[in-house]
Amino acid sequence: MKYDVIIIGGGPAGLACALEARKTNEHVLIIEREARLGGILKQCIHDGFGLIRFNEKLSGPEYAYKFSSEVEKQDIKISRLTFVLDIKKDSDKFLVTIVNEDGIKTLETDNVVLATGCRERTARQVFIAGDRTAGVMTAGQAQYYVNILGQKIGKEVVILGSGDIGLIMARRLTLEGSNVKGVYEIKNTPSGLERNIQQCLRDFDIPLTLSTTVVQTFGKDRLEGIEIAKVNDRMQIIPGTEEYIKCDTLILSCGLIPENELAEKLHIEIDRVTKGPIVNNLLETSVKGVYSCGNCLHVNDVVDYVSESAEIVARSLKNKEIGEEIKVNKTPLMGYVLPQKINLAYKTPTVFYFRVVKEIKKATLTVKQEDKVILTRKLFNLKPPEMVRVLIDLKDIENKDLIFDLKEEE
Ligand SMILES: Cc1cc2nc3c(=O)[nH]c(=O)nc-3n(C[C@H](O)[C@H](O)[C@H](O)COP(=O)(O)OP(=O)(O)OC[C@H]3O[C@@H](n4cnc5c(N)ncnc54)[C@H](O)[C@@H]3O)c2cc1C
Repeated sequence: MKYDVIIIGGGPAGLACALEARKTNEHVLIIEREARLGGILKQCIHDGFGLIRFNEKLSGPEYAYKFSSEVEKQDIKISRLTFVLDIKKDSDKFLVTIVNEDGIKTLETDNVVLATGCRERTARQVFIAGDRTAGVMTAGQAQYYVNILGQKIGKEVVILGSGDIGLIMARRLTLEGSNVKGVYEIKNTPSGLERNIQQCLRDFDIPLTLSTTVVQTFGKDRLEGIEIAKVNDRMQIIPGTEEYIKCDTLILSCGLIPENELAEKLHIEIDRVTKGPIVNNLLETSVKGVYSCGNCLHVNDVVDYVSESAEIVARSLKNKEIGEEIKVNKTPLMGYVLPQKINLAYKTPTVFYFRVVKEIKKATLTVKQEDKVILTRKLFNLKPPEMVRVLIDLKDIENKDLIFDLKEEE
């Protein structure tokens, strides 16, 4: 049998995509490598999910359940404990190779949706010297041990990186009786959302030290301590500022990287900034018929936008008209704008997401084509960790690059 669409990943992106896609497609399959649907949200037991979409504060499992329970009721096929090994384009269809307890099999589909989420940077990727001792782990691993396995991971904890998962784990470990000695951040601004800095650090008197990194770990079998040091504005260690901290656990929250090994196998064009595929307004990648959504497209700040991008993909699946494509350009104050291209066959209202490169109190966004202004908007309190979402009606655009021009104001 040939599927209309195979969705790889049963996290919030894959689930939202499947529900929306089933409205207009008969044969929809979700492939998930784990035993349960829900993705990473299964281990995120704190609340704060769904504020935008449902106007209520849900925990991660509650948010995932809203979608997974609905998916189970629909005629959507699910292959659990199944790993996608490879995807190949074969004239007008795709061949998806999977492995599970039945062995290796190849499935056929018209469309592929990549919803594989992201992974965390490890100690090696952030260049910390030292042996591979027990007690050094990523924030996601710590979250899994504590929230899913119910284990205590250490007594004296230091966290490197002020990403949201690290901040949430600082609070979680404090509530579980560990002494969280501090959070250290190499940049001169925090990486996580302001609400998490307040609710997870300040409310629990956990110090946050900026422009500081962990240089090396000490200990053979179990971590015994770490060396931290101040860095300059080029993130180089300042000699003489080294300091030893005794601890048995080091948690890394140093950024997430979109998981795109399958996209790379398909030779999909990847954006150097987002580390996800370059997509057009249908969220279609450079390989026609392959779409990307959720955290494998770009690392989202809140899950509500993950679900939104997945639904955009689902509604695009039948839009097969190949129009001319124009580029979306940006000014240097913005790290990226997504989608990066527009298929002019679909001049419909389109959601754009972007991030700024530094904190900006007040700015004006002008979206234009040469001198023709499409949209102007005043924006306030922009911060690099927080995504900005803008809905733009593209009905009047022409065959010229679209420019997102952001200007800081006094
Ligand atoms: C460790 C960690 C903790 C997080 N904690 C928070 C938090 O506390 N709060 C918050 O707002 N956000 C958190 N996030 C962000 C969170 O990931 C997103 O909000 C959201 O879960 C992303 O949804 P997704 O569906 O894109 O990805 P995921 O939830 O990661 O789902 C992707 C799914 O794809 C499956 N998959 C991947 N590759 C394959 C393959 N080859 N074959 C089959 N299946 C595959 C995975 O098993 C997974 O189930 C966290 C992220 C991580 C990595």
